[in-house]
Amino acid sequence: MGRVYNFSAGPATLPEAVLQEAAEEMLDYRGTGMSVMEMSHRSKAYEEIHNEAIADLRELMNIPDNYKVLFLQGGASLQFAMIPMNLMKNRVADYIITGQWAKKAFKEAQLYGKANAIASSEDKMFTYIPDCSDLPISPDADYVYICQNNTVFGTEYHTLPDTKGKILVADVSSCFLSEPMDVTKYGIIYGGVQKNIGPAGTVIVIIREDLITDDVLPGTPTMLRYKTHADANSLYNTPPTYGIYICGKVFKWLKQRGGLEAMKSYNEKKAAILYEYLDQSHMFKGTVEKKDRSLMNVPFVTGNPELDAKFIKEAKERGLENLKGYRTVGGMRASIYNAMPMDGVIALVDFMREFERRNG
Ligand SMILES: *Cc1c(COP(=O)(O)O)cnc(C)c1O
Repeated sequence: MGRVYNFSAGPATLPEAVLQEAAEEMLDYRGTGMSVMEMSHRSKAYEEIHNEAIADLRELMNIPDNYKVLFLQGGASLQFAMIPMNLMKNRVADYIITGQWAKKAFKEAQLYGKANAIASSEDKMFTYIPDCSDLPISPDADYVYICQNNTVFGTEYHTLPDTKGKILVADVSSCFLSEPMDVTKYGIIYGGVQKNIGPAGTVIVIIREDLITDDVLPGTPTMLRYKTHADANSLYNTPPTYGIYICGKVFKWLKQRGGLEAMKSYNEKKAAILYEYLDQSHMFKGTVEKKDRSLMNVPFVTGNPELDAKFIKEAKERGLENLKGYRTVGGMRASIYNAMPMDGVIALVDFMREFERRNG
């Protein structure tokens, strides 16, 4: 069997062209006689990879000069702590709880100060995004935190919250580079790259310069200060070099495909194929409110756990893999990130249609 259509939520599918190029360069990266994995992070060849990746990301996202791009480690989950450690000057922050990742970040922030849940969609199992047009923002909040795309539940903010002038911090792990964003609306944008960009082990943080200071909570380790990494261009210690190299290739792949406007329109077309099918199916149902649907993660159910299991098993036999929903949610979830081709979504919907005919 060759490559499958991999609908995993993360680590997730990567562009085949990028993997092929990496394979070709595996043993001898452009005449250096070594793999990028074997290279000093202080070498000229690596430095070029590193700086080109940053420059390409800046171009793709149109990142203004007063923002820094950092490549860090520790997964998105370490940012749950790093954000309060670096930003919670008043020890107060407001969180909007739209799923399990937002909730984890909220719980972590409670270790450092007063974290307020100012809105939540937990009352309906996180199947919608709360109205964020007039939130009870705390007057002394150091920032307002959101998880912009909820990987587990399949919702996404299509309008950003009104933070009433407070700094907006966003976890974009599962929607990173899926569409253009206005970086100027945020203080920090961050995400683990293993969902929509590259291999696990690298985290990208885009942070406004005035938020990079020495004024951090007492006891914040050197490695967990944004300033440490910003001052050293993410080369304070050994960065995740191979991961950054692959991210760089994905940035070039995105540029070749027309950038984020083009990706958005491609992603909208892909998602529409699946959602339109779900909306008319008598067997499969989407689980979230239409207005808040994610372009990247599409959860659905039959309402019958045995039928769900049968579907997942038979789909796998067809090379449609990792369609099982998150372990606490059940049902199915198709993650259709940038690197999932249109043909993969068409193959999925064709199979759903056939399965419905046979089992309906
Ligand atoms: C996967 C995910 C995380 C956790 O990422 P790790 O890199 O495993 O820590 C956090 N937030 C979101 C939105 C995610 O999808």
